[in-house]
This record gives sequence, C-alpha cells and structure tokens, in this order.
Amino acid sequence: MTRSISILGATGSVGASTLDLVRRNRDEWRVVALTANCSARELAALAREFDAEIAVVGDEACLRDLREALSGSEIEAAGGPSALCEAASRPVDLTVAAIVGCAGLRPTMTAIRRGGAIALANKEALVSAGDVMTAAVAQHGATLLPVDSEHNAIFQCLQGGRIEDVRAITLTASGGPLRTWTAEQLALATPAQAVAHPNWSMGAKISVDSATMMNKGLEFIEAHHLFPVGLEALRIIVHPQSVVHSMVEYRDGSTLAQLGPSDMRVPIASCLAYPARMDTPCAPLDLAALGSLTFEPLDEVRFPATRLAREAAHAGGASPAVLNAANEVAVAAFLAGQMAFTRIALVVEQTLERYTPMAPSSLDDVLGVDAEARSRARELLETMPIG
Ligand code: NAD
Ligand code: MG
Repeated sequence: MTRSISILGATGSVGASTLDLVRRNRDEWRVVALTANCSARELAALAREFDAEIAVVGDEACLRDLREALSGSEIEAAGGPSALCEAASRPVDLTVAAIVGCAGLRPTMTAIRRGGAIALANKEALVSAGDVMTAAVAQHGATLLPVDSEHNAIFQCLQGGRIEDVRAITLTASGGPLRTWTAEQLALATPAQAVAHPNWSMGAKISVDSATMMNKGLEFIEAHHLFPVGLEALRIIVHPQSVVHSMVEYRDGSTLAQLGPSDMRVPIASCLAYPARMDTPCAPLDLAALGSLTFEPLDEVRFPATRLAREAAHAGGASPAVLNAANEVAVAAFLAGQMAFTRIALVVEQTLERYTPMAPSSLDDVLGVDAEARSRARELLETMPIG
C-alpha cells in the first residue's frame, strides 16, 4: 500500500537521508510536499525526481528561480513562510520535520495540528516550544516519532516497557570533533575544525552544536519533553564511538541500549517503517572490528553548554526558547567568522541572564520570545570583542 509523505527541509542532510530511503522504495511512497529555504534548483530537481505535488522555498526571494526550474512540470511552486505552513497542512501519512532551527517551528506545529505522524528531526522547534508543542500533540492526537538518533534509540528501548518503570535515561554524546582539545585550543577553533565531526555527516549548525556540546544540551531538553521521566532521571555520558545511541535503565536494574552504525538512515528508517522495520543500505555493526566501546564523564568546564541547557530545562518557562535562540545567533556568527568558538556559550549564558520573559503559553508567545532573544543576542555580539 502506498503511503504519502512530506519532507520539510528536503535539501538538508536529514532530508537527503530520508529521500535516499524513499528512492530505494519508490513505489511505496507518494511524495506530497518538499521544502527548502532557498536552494531552488536543487529543490526543483528533487520535486521532479519524486514527482512531488508541491515544492516550497521558505525564502520568497527564491520563488522566481523555483518557478523557472519547475516550468513545464505539473508541480506547484510556492514561497514564503505561510506557503511552508500551507504545504505542511496538506494531509499526509507522515511529515518529516527536518528544517534546521526555530524556523521550522510554525510549519512543524501546522503538521501537528493536522494530527497524524510527524518524524521529528527539528529539535530546536521542540526545545523552544516545549509544553506548547507537547500540548498540541496531545490535543490533536498527533504522534511524534523521534528522528534524532539518541531519542530514536530511547524510543526503541521503551517499546514494550512502561515509562513509570524507568529509573534513568542516559543520552550518549560523541563529544564532537574538539572533545580532547584544551580550553586554549578551543578558543582558537575555526569553523572548518568545528564542523569536521568524526562520526556523523550533518548540516553546519548541528555540527557546531556537536562541537560545543550544545547539541547534547538541546537533546537533554528534547528528551525531557519526549519522555516524561523527570529531569533528575536524565543523564548524559560521553561515548566517542557513537555506537550506543542511548540507554534506558529500568527499576529492576536492567539497562536496554540501542546500537547501530552512525548513519541517520537507521533512525529515519525506523520512523518511516514504524512500527514495522525496513531494509537500509547501512553497513551493519562489526563489534569485533571495533574492539571496544568507551565511556567518559562530561567536562562542563571546557564545554559549558550542557550545563546551560540543563539549567534552562530546570528553570523551564521561556528559558529553553531563549537558550535556543541565542545559540542560533551565536552559531551563525561563529560560522561567519565573526566570533570565537568559546564565545558561543558565553553569548547564550549572558542572553539567558539578561532576558527572563514570562513562560509562553501559545505558539505566538514562543515566537515572540524567540525573536526578542535573537535581537538581545545580536546586541550582545556587537558589544563583545571578537576574540
Ligand atoms: P541542514 O542544514 O543540512 O538542512 C536544513 C534544511 O532546512 C534544508 O533543507 C534547508 O533548506 C532548510 N532550511 C534552513 N533554514 C530554513 C528556513 N529559515 N526556512 C525554511 N527552511 C529552512 O540541517 P540538518 O543537518 O539536516 O538538520 C535538520 C534538523 O535535524 C536540525 O534541527 C538538526 O538538529 C536535526 N538533526 C540532524 C541530524 C543530522 O544528522 N544531520 C541528526 C539529528 C538531528
Ligand atoms: Mg542526536
């Protein structure tokens, strides 16, 4: 039986991995909407290849290119933030939410409000909206299938178990490409060094987040919303090989872990086929060749981001949205060569100290907090020395 799918963020790393799996099972899927921010030609080529119903660019300035690239086809072309939401509102069996950053929040919420299944990669949306998103999921009877490898691992380890029997959930962190660097070296890390992840190939923003370990901080908050075991039961451990993707410890002392290659097609496949399983082209684990798996504690002196995220999670309310927005601004500035690597966490910390809005209770509240936190973070950047 054919199922329908829309991919928000189709031209990105998660989008490409998803489409790779769809391509291998072409007759099982009908592609409805594919979206991108701007890469109009690339998006048009994908829309043609997958015979999509509609292709949408978030940046309206790219619509003309998209129209041109789609001319002669039956595929609808649209552009701008409201067009993204219109595309996300079209009925499908599965929406893959793979836009990066809070930019994906409104389209993801639109898909949630339609009910149905959402394979969620866009962690920033859940971190920012938190309870507003989980309440909408409950209200509209939507299902969130976690794409993030750690959360997908936890989700798998919880199948057949009861959440009230869980004693602890441990997120594994690779530690990123700069894991062994000294504080002095970290201050001089370049964008190229920060995005050179040893295990995973990902978009630039999440790669920098992995290097600062803010990625694990965001994932801590993400786990808090996806798996209601309480913040005290959530742990983080460094596991440089990225083979154990996370673990769930039950009250009887049993710990279940999910292991797999560091290839996003594995967790994405588990969402595409859920609750069944499907083939992937990923090389299976060869544990004998790996020889050993190692684990180490977090070093929050060199990598303060996980502490900031944990504190924001405990503070609750608007804090995670402020943390996320400041981080997005700081990461963009670092990638643009405007700021030292170690300033990223500093900008986040100072934005959190200076801006403490009321807890958001609606999507518009969340977006208001996000916008204000961004402008405060940008102001901070301007007053900060580069080094
Ligand atoms: P990416 O940068 O490779 O792709 C992002 C996609 O979003 C692209 O299609 C881009 O065109 C689109 N986009 C960017 N800004 C947009 C905007 N303002 N409006 C509309 N569309 C916009 O990112 P990625 O690595 O694929 O990550 C996507 C999401 O998945 C992120 O939230 C990331 O944290 C999460 N994630 C990624 C991986 C991974 O392996 N890449 C793993 C786990 C979670
Ligand atoms: Mg992850």
